[in-house]
Amino acid sequence: MGRQAKAVLYRELNKPVVVETIQVESPKRGEVMVEIGACGVCHSDLSATNGTIPLPPPLVLGHEAAGTICELGEGVSDLAVGDTVVVSWIPTCGKCRYCVMGKPQLCDVAAKATLTLPDGTSRYKDSKGNTLHHFAGTGVMGEYATLHRDNVIKIDPSVGIDKAAIVGCAVMTGVGAALNTAKVEPGSSCVVFGAGGVGLNTIQGCAIAGAKQIIAVDKADKKLEFARNFGATHTINPSSDGDPVGKVMALTGGGADYAFECIGLGATIQQAFGCVRKGGTAVVVGVSKPTETVTFGAFLLPFQEKVLTGSMYGSARPSIDFPRLLDLYKGGRLKLDELVTATYSVDEAGRAFDDLVAGVNARGVIVF
Ligand SMILES: [Zn+2]
Ligand SMILES: [Zn+2]
Repeated sequence: MGRQAKAVLYRELNKPVVVETIQVESPKRGEVMVEIGACGVCHSDLSATNGTIPLPPPLVLGHEAAGTICELGEGVSDLAVGDTVVVSWIPTCGKCRYCVMGKPQLCDVAAKATLTLPDGTSRYKDSKGNTLHHFAGTGVMGEYATLHRDNVIKIDPSVGIDKAAIVGCAVMTGVGAALNTAKVEPGSSCVVFGAGGVGLNTIQGCAIAGAKQIIAVDKADKKLEFARNFGATHTINPSSDGDPVGKVMALTGGGADYAFECIGLGATIQQAFGCVRKGGTAVVVGVSKPTETVTFGAFLLPFQEKVLTGSMYGSARPSIDFPRLLDLYKGGRLKLDELVTATYSVDEAGRAFDDLVAGVNARGVIVF
């Protein structure tokens, strides 16, 4: 039957987001419609509106949401209307070589479904009947969303919906970078560049893993204050403290075991790589512009055996990791309440994005 929904759209490059009433089509075979309860405002949404992630408008934003199943497409037998779900912006097909080798975050289907559902078509139209794209194959910053079944993970409904929403991107990406990608060991030393939504979760991932030293690097003192609340044992503000690499070397006695870059800049990736000890691991979590590059001197590479790797979605296995993260929250080991520092109505979306740019929140969430 389809439904009308207020949604947050990217219409024009470098212009504020707009709130419009859109038409959400009913789910087709293998799809579901979700009544969205809450959607986090992620830096990647902002990156779509300013061209850092080059995607063509018009685009329904949002990829970090939770809600309730309100309609089932044909053939969906393992979910029911009324189920609470967290949206995963990676649909894991379970059949491609990456899914089969246990790396569903690299799923080939997901790589194709960036602007549409996996079948290559959209379920959204504006009031004039023009097709709208789905951001990150999801586009869930609206009252209703139609998605592929493989993009939703059923969860325990007892968790607050705004807390559940942020598990779907910032928490999974950050905590997963530490626990899944790097497999941080107890007693280790870690450095995290960038203490935004993802960086704070990387910090708490390192804390959950039992790191003894967690050094947060950011140019905003406000974010460093958040970082200390999420487990950072030391903070460095390069604006006032100078070169972070030298500081990390001194604090760790010769280099960190792990470094995480959660910004997406060549210069900070180079610093992260420079910060790790011989045999240490530098993990790139931040998404840079496609034109960004990073260079290293080649001479020391064989002598130091450092590892440089990317981390896609915290190397998520959504159906295992989302419930696991929520269990950590229920057990008091994962901070979610402290992450959601502001909630907004859908009509306040413009202000939510302004606050993201200003860096005033650990995470801002739109609640429907
Ligand atoms: Zn995100
Ligand atoms: Zn796959």
